[in-house]
Amino acid sequence: MSEAFLTIQSLQSGYGDVQVLWDISVAVEHGGITCIVGSNGAGKTTLLRTISGLLKPRAGSIKLAGEEIGGLAPDAILTRGIAHVPEGRRLFKGLSVHDNLLLGAYLRRDTPEIESDLNFVYDLFPILKERRRQDATTLSGGEQQMCAIGRGLLSRPKLLMIDELSLGLAPRLVEKLGDALIEINKTGLTILLVEQDVMTAFDIARHAFVIETGRVSMAGTTADLGQNARIREAYMGI
Ligand code: ATP
Repeated sequence: MSEAFLTIQSLQSGYGDVQVLWDISVAVEHGGITCIVGSNGAGKTTLLRTISGLLKPRAGSIKLAGEEIGGLAPDAILTRGIAHVPEGRRLFKGLSVHDNLLLGAYLRRDTPEIESDLNFVYDLFPILKERRRQDATTLSGGEQQMCAIGRGLLSRPKLLMIDELSLGLAPRLVEKLGDALIEINKTGLTILLVEQDVMTAFDIARHAFVIETGRVSMAGTTADLGQNARIREAYMGI
């Protein structure tokens, strides 16, 4: 792997008495697409929530471009350039697609650039432009995912983290969203994708980390891991 942009070392995290992450070390390649895979309850969402400041690490370190960010508040982490597209999309009911997208830019003051980022999102997902006045929660699942990704992009992040891109979506749509992520990545944005669907994740990402019960059990390129017998059997049903 070339230089890492986000480096996580020996991270521990959890909720109250429940420890979920026991020892997580992950490196996210600068300018690349990296995925975290693992079965239900392995701790993938907990990891993203800890990176984005929604949960405080109990031990270990999270460095963005060499600078420690572990334990900072969510808005400080957003300002440093990490956007989090949460599982389930979490769009705001009663707000239009347009206003939901603009919520992603709430910490920004550079108005002209916000407009051009909005146009980038509308070019990437033309259906959102068509539906821009519609209540975002009345969009289809795939359109809601586009809107949630668009909202993430409106913070103009350096690292975009997406929790369960494919959840509840038809394969054709997932493929379209995957292509959009590859397009976004070509603009230089680093992407960290969390996925339960290993085939989908491996099609999109170059590096992968497998999490099992709060620990990294395997890591490597998706090309290599995709040939690994244990991964194929346990996660790909091959
Ligand atoms: P999934 O794909 O099902 O979301 P995941 O790998 O993202 O799985 P997490 O959501 O991180 O897994 O959950 C890991 C563990 O943490 C689970 O055992 C879950 O029950 C527990 N957990 C999640 N949220 C909470 C919470 N708010 N309080 C207590 N335990 C929680």
